[in-house]
Amino acid sequence: MVVARRKRKRREVEPGFTEGASGGPEEEENNDNGTQIRQENEKLREMQTCKICMERQVNTTLLPCGHLVSCDRCASRLAKCPICRTKIKGSVKTFMT
Ligand SMILES: [Zn+2]
Ligand SMILES: [Zn+2]
Repeated sequence: MVVARRKRKRREVEPGFTEGASGGPEEEENNDNGTQIRQENEKLREMQTCKICMERQVNTTLLPCGHLVSCDRCASRLAKCPICRTKIKGSVKTFMT
């Protein structure tokens, strides 16, 4: 009586082979960047505040000097540029994106 036996190959997990052995990139030192960006945003917002009334957003460029320091309301009242004291001859509504 002959019994044909099939040899079963055992799938053995090689010792030492572990998933993720290559190691992912470490992304842990981003906290400082977040703080920096927040400070930058605050600075930007400060720069966009009208230097005259400190209430409205800066949206008017003074002519002819080109300084961008006040809102449209204040710009219409200014006789001279608060930065360079150039006599204002006009103003241009400016939109910042
Ligand atoms: Zn203003
Ligand atoms: Zn100016």
